[in-house]
Amino acid sequence: MNTMTAINTDRPEPAPKKFPITTLAIGFVILVCMSLILLQAWVTWRAREVQLAETERAASNLARSVSQHAYDTIKGADTVLVGLVERLEVEGISEINLPRLHSLLIKRVEELPQLHGLFVYDQYGNWLVNSQPSLKKNGNNSEREYFMFHRDHTDRDAHIGPPIKSKSTGEWVVTVSRRFNNRDGSFGGVVLATIQMGYFKKFYEQFDIGNTGAIYVALTNGTILLRRPFEEGSLGRNISQLPLFHDYLPNAKMGTETFTSGQDGVTRINSYRQLDSYPLVVSAALSKEEVLADWKSEAIIHATGVACLVFGLALIGSRLIVQIGLRVQAETELLKTRNSLEQLNHTLEKLAMQDGLTGLANRRQFDIALKDEFSRAMRNASSLALIMIDVDCFKQYNDIYGHAAGDECLRAISKVVADGKHRPGDLSARYGGEEMVILLPGTDVAGAMKVAENIRQAIYHLELKHTGNSSGVVTVSAGIDAFVPVREHNQPLELIEAADKALYCAKSQGRNCVRVGNGHDA
Ligand code: GH3
Ligand code: MG
Ligand code: MG
Repeated sequence: MNTMTAINTDRPEPAPKKFPITTLAIGFVILVCMSLILLQAWVTWRAREVQLAETERAASNLARSVSQHAYDTIKGADTVLVGLVERLEVEGISEINLPRLHSLLIKRVEELPQLHGLFVYDQYGNWLVNSQPSLKKNGNNSEREYFMFHRDHTDRDAHIGPPIKSKSTGEWVVTVSRRFNNRDGSFGGVVLATIQMGYFKKFYEQFDIGNTGAIYVALTNGTILLRRPFEEGSLGRNISQLPLFHDYLPNAKMGTETFTSGQDGVTRINSYRQLDSYPLVVSAALSKEEVLADWKSEAIIHATGVACLVFGLALIGSRLIVQIGLRVQAETELLKTRNSLEQLNHTLEKLAMQDGLTGLANRRQFDIALKDEFSRAMRNASSLALIMIDVDCFKQYNDIYGHAAGDECLRAISKVVADGKHRPGDLSARYGGEEMVILLPGTDVAGAMKVAENIRQAIYHLELKHTGNSSGVVTVSAGIDAFVPVREHNQPLELIEAADKALYCAKSQGRNCVRVGNGHDA
């Protein structure tokens, strides 16, 4: 071991260890909770999408079914009208034909369940013949929309008019009519088929459209013909300004759109289609809120379940994290304690081997080192040198300058002694009182002489005032010896005795000089 310098007990504390495991655990718990929430949110959202897609499909099928029914119903009535027009135009209207026509109309109405009645009006709107059991001729329908339409249009196609209340029965009916001409091509009159509203109602009631769903059939100009739920006030109303007619129909003849009704504020999934053969538009609408009601309650149950799970996980996770944190903290404290103990031990070790006043190695360390180096020198057959230094007239120094100044002087000298050795294996120690030694492994007399002489001169040149000394300053005397120790022949003590002898020699030869043992002179 080397010369010990002042002991630094203020070693910086090791930086407090972070707790990555706690951070990791927190991260893991958060990740698990977030994954659960996100997964549940995604599953719920997907279920909603599927539900909406299914509803769109159901609304579309419903619209297709309603439009097919509307087409079949009107087509049935219209086919009768086409036959009537052909007959009236070929046979003309004569009193002879009327009874036959009357019974034919009755028969047709009996055959077709949708038909409410069949009517023939002359060019002035007078009742010619109809399907009523007892033929009345006292009426006139010239003010009806369908009559005026045919009178004013040469168009031969079927005309579907707005819903009206039948004059004959007071029931709500849908009218399908055609114009027939006289032989000269002039307006001959109108044939009319009325279709019972109840026929449609019955069909529409088969469908489950919820409480706020709606089915309606309207003319392409936006006039409502039929509607479920059935409301008298809405029949014949014009809805051409509503989104379906205003925004969607001009772009596509069929489709499915979701929008909020301006009337009742209900958002519906509307599937609509426009018929090719008749100027009709059919719409089936299902309330979005209603179709999502089941999904909503399920989502609430699932979300509550996941919330409970996440809460439980977070609770258990936080407890675990606190436990881990405490454990890591305890481990760190333990580590800290162990480090300070080690440090204390190290300091104590140093103190045990060091001289308190000078900071040089103490006598104990020197004795151990001498023994070790003596054995090594024996093994290696190398020379081991020892310098023994003694302050001259130090008793007087204490007497003159006081013990404290003596201590200070010893510290200054020991610093020079410590600095005087150069090799890593060299050891300078306080031997006792004002005596110091330097052990120089692998060094012969000449080498030791050089070191001792340098130290002597350096101390002299410190020029520490000492009036009790003949030179006027503090000086030291040194005795040295060196030899290659031989096993069985030499003992460590011999080196000390030889150096001590040489020191005695230096003292007796006037002090402030270096002398070599075994008669070797400097
Ligand atoms: P010489 O030149 O023959 O060595 O004379 P000396 O006076 O130095 O020798 P002596 O052995 O008579 O006296 C040694 C003195 O060193 C006695 C003691 O008071 C003093 N001394 C020993 N250890 C210490 C110390 O730790 N501090 C101080 N201040 N003085 C010490
Ligand atoms: Mg002495
Ligand atoms: Mg002395």
